[in-house]
Amino acid sequence: MNFEIVLATNNKHKLQEVRQILSPHGIVVYGISDLNLKPEEAIEDGSTYAENALIKAKVLQKVTSFPIIADDSGIEIFALNHQPGIHTARFAQECGGHDKAIEYIIDRLKDQEDRRAQFVCDIVLLNVEDKPLIFEGIAPGHIAYKSEGEHGFGYDPIFIPLGRDCVYALMEEKEKNEISHRARALKKLLTYLRVKGLINK
Ligand code: IMP
Repeated sequence: MNFEIVLATNNKHKLQEVRQILSPHGIVVYGISDLNLKPEEAIEDGSTYAENALIKAKVLQKVTSFPIIADDSGIEIFALNHQPGIHTARFAQECGGHDKAIEYIIDRLKDQEDRRAQFVCDIVLLNVEDKPLIFEGIAPGHIAYKSEGEHGFGYDPIFIPLGRDCVYALMEEKEKNEISHRARALKKLLTYLRVKGLINK
């Protein structure tokens, strides 16, 4: 039994991660371009991760009746008052890209002992129930003193998840996908789909 779903993202890394996590459970994850969909641009002006994920999902809902998942994530740095949080993507843009944002964070935290941080991911599921469903995953950890590694994307070169001694970007994709914020949210989605009888693994 295959369950088909479309992921509301243009981020190839995110699509790859979601596929790697969901496909062993018989879920076929399409990207927007795989279905040749042309949604409007999503204006992410919500005040929570869930609101922003819902905005992305609803834009896609206008052009497909497929089950949709959309995720919105952010990194919260404790010593920076939990910023950039829901502004994580905008923060990178304003810095001039992720490399510059990473440099800025490393510099801001250079004399800071409290290096705690967490990644948060909210996933919205649409077109399955009458109302949207939300699944949240949080990965606690801390910020490294230097940027390292080539794997993954975004802030992966500086985030060390709790209980590990290296950043996401030094891990094989499989290892990140066992423990990441996105994996934790998707595990909750899997439980829901199993309970509903929509998947059987
Ligand atoms: P969005 O959820 O695609 O809107 O991403 C928000 C911001 O968080 C972007 O700057 C992403 O690069 C970053 N981000 C989201 N997920 C991850 C991740 O798994 N690793 C590193 N950065 C991420």
